[in-house]
Amino acid sequence: MLEVKGLTVHYGAVRALGGVDLSVDEGSVTAVLGANGAGKTTLLRTVSGLLKPRAGSVELDGRELTRLPVEDIVRLGVAHVPQSGGVITELTVEENLRLGGLWRRDRAALTRRVAEMYELFPPLAERRARTAATLSGGERQMLALARALTGGPRLLLVDEPSLGLAPRVVAQLMAVLRRLCDEDGRTVLLVEQNARSALSVADRAVVLDLGAVVAAEAAATLAADDRLRHAYLGF
Ligand code: ATP
Repeated sequence: MLEVKGLTVHYGAVRALGGVDLSVDEGSVTAVLGANGAGKTTLLRTVSGLLKPRAGSVELDGRELTRLPVEDIVRLGVAHVPQSGGVITELTVEENLRLGGLWRRDRAALTRRVAEMYELFPPLAERRARTAATLSGGERQMLALARALTGGPRLLLVDEPSLGLAPRVVAQLMAVLRRLCDEDGRTVLLVEQNARSALSVADRAVVLDLGAVVAAEAAATLAADDRLRHAYLGF
């Protein structure tokens, strides 16, 4: 579904990605792992069109994305959940959710999708009229995910959802990501520093180091590779 080829991205003189190749199958969870500064966030931001690469391509079902404006990429079904969620704390849960599907013309469909999100995340239903500022870290991360899902994306880009959350909450979030693939046929590209959690739900994983892919394997194969785990994943 997603084919990244030779992706090279610079911030001024700093090369954050140097020739990254990546292939993501529809209906799968692919984990992008690696240490701080490896280039994981840069990869997600380039796929969603927020950064323009110096070289290389990003194709979604054969269609080149890198020259499209962000809003066109959203319309093609790509949603990005940034690090720490990016929910708007002054707005209510319901307002945040509706914002995620604001670009959709069909208002009735948006209302249906918001209702579906309350089924998928019951704590959000209980707190629908509260501002996002009153939510716990885990609830905010749920809201960020739910907001991305109200747009009905096919490809969900999720940046470090586990950051700062208790292990039990992380496990719940990972389970939701798995279900989105297994039950709804969505595709997830999951950036994580918490490699152990990510590998527990991922089908495949790529490891980045200094902006280059050092491993791309089935998640189970990677989890069983002591050398790679010790060198790059810290467990
Ligand atoms: P983290 O987990 O810390 O977010 P990461 O793997 O996501 O790490 P990136 O944030 O993609 O890594 O950063 C890759 C490289 O690009 C790093 O060397 C970083 O210092 C550099 N970098 C990231 N953002 C910028 C920026 N806005 N300006 C200059 N350099 C940047």
